[in-house]
Amino acid sequence: MLRAGNDIVLSDSIEQLGLVSQPNKATDSADAERYATKNGIELIADKNRDFLYIGGAKVFLSGSMRSYHGKLTVQSNDYYKVLLPLFWWSQPPTNSVKRIIIDPGHGGKDPGKTCPFNSTCEKQLTLDTALRLKAILEKNGYEVLLTRDKDTWIDLDDRPAIATRAKADLFVSLHYNSAGANDFKSSGIETYAYTPVGQSSTNDPSRNRSQSSAQPGNNFDTFNMVLAWSVHRRLLANTGAEDRGVRRAKFAVLRTLNCPGILVESGFVTSRTEGALICDPSYRQKIAQSVAEGIMDYRQRTQGHP
Ligand SMILES: [Zn+2]
Repeated sequence: MLRAGNDIVLSDSIEQLGLVSQPNKATDSADAERYATKNGIELIADKNRDFLYIGGAKVFLSGSMRSYHGKLTVQSNDYYKVLLPLFWWSQPPTNSVKRIIIDPGHGGKDPGKTCPFNSTCEKQLTLDTALRLKAILEKNGYEVLLTRDKDTWIDLDDRPAIATRAKADLFVSLHYNSAGANDFKSSGIETYAYTPVGQSSTNDPSRNRSQSSAQPGNNFDTFNMVLAWSVHRRLLANTGAEDRGVRRAKFAVLRTLNCPGILVESGFVTSRTEGALICDPSYRQKIAQSVAEGIMDYRQRTQGHP
């Protein structure tokens, strides 16, 4: 594959991932490049953007895309930690995904964020969503455990430990987001994987402190990315919420995980419109259904049946 310094030329390296170049659309910028897999998963790249659209979902990169002799390039860590996991169709299967730990964020002394319009706490919303998700997954033959099934506080480090003790195959932490004071507009869904080795966290504004020492959760960088993307796509498709992207952060609940895992921020409780939706049980059912569908996509994908 063609390298431009530390960067990789997209058009010269992407064929080996099963992607074929597509004509640009009239709405694309002159610098945009489009690709698609045989089964129709699109990749859209554009210069100066620090994210790609993959299968309709925004996936953040470590840095902005640049161009080399008129061709778009990605940093090599983005190639290995984003593109390879998401397009490596021949990737070996994991152990079967059967036992899933759902972690309703916050609880007990920690209410999480509070919806400013009706005072519902995030800890209530995450527990309710977790119970809905559990019911859907069990109906589909999965074994499901919750880190908490009532209003109790569990230490952040204990949450992945519960997954390890239970020999879980997958871990999903559920949260709702909030904006700063007097911001009642910010909305949308973010899905997080633990920051892979060699990449920086997306919430690090300078994007230059890359993760150097591997944590236990980094053993699953590849699968974390596939899981985050699978769940994020379903959430966007089913809710129509704003796409705030697949992101990376060093969350304590993901750091010591002994299995693939993600953390989902399924919308802003502080948004006048999205907050009202989140406080509606039928919307939380939609969130739960979407996460379940994403998990099922992930299982199908990692068992070698794309
Ligand atoms: Zn939270």
